[in-house]
Amino acid sequence: MSALSGLKAKLGLDVFKPDGEPHIRIKPGMERDPRLKRAVLVCPAGLYGENASGEVELTIDGCLECGTCRIACGTEVLEWNCPSGGAGVQFRFG
Ligand code: SF4
Repeated sequence: MSALSGLKAKLGLDVFKPDGEPHIRIKPGMERDPRLKRAVLVCPAGLYGENASGEVELTIDGCLECGTCRIACGTEVLEWNCPSGGAGVQFRFG
């Protein structure tokens, strides 16, 4: 098993309860901001990606709530809130 497939298998054990609204949002107009591109590199769950137009996109499902993207990119480009009580990730270390 490769390191990447091992990581994906471990992340697959976690349970994610959706919140009413995404707890992290890319601020409007910041999709091409160079600071936001850091998230593509540092998100441990690989939830950020850059599309063909050079815009960064976020898929919130699977967020580990680690806060790495908030620290790496800053709150000028990301709106970052904790999920509502009872929502979000439940870690299952298996
Ligand atoms: S909080 Fe962590 S897991 Fe969630 S999107 Fe940011 S870097 Fe990725």
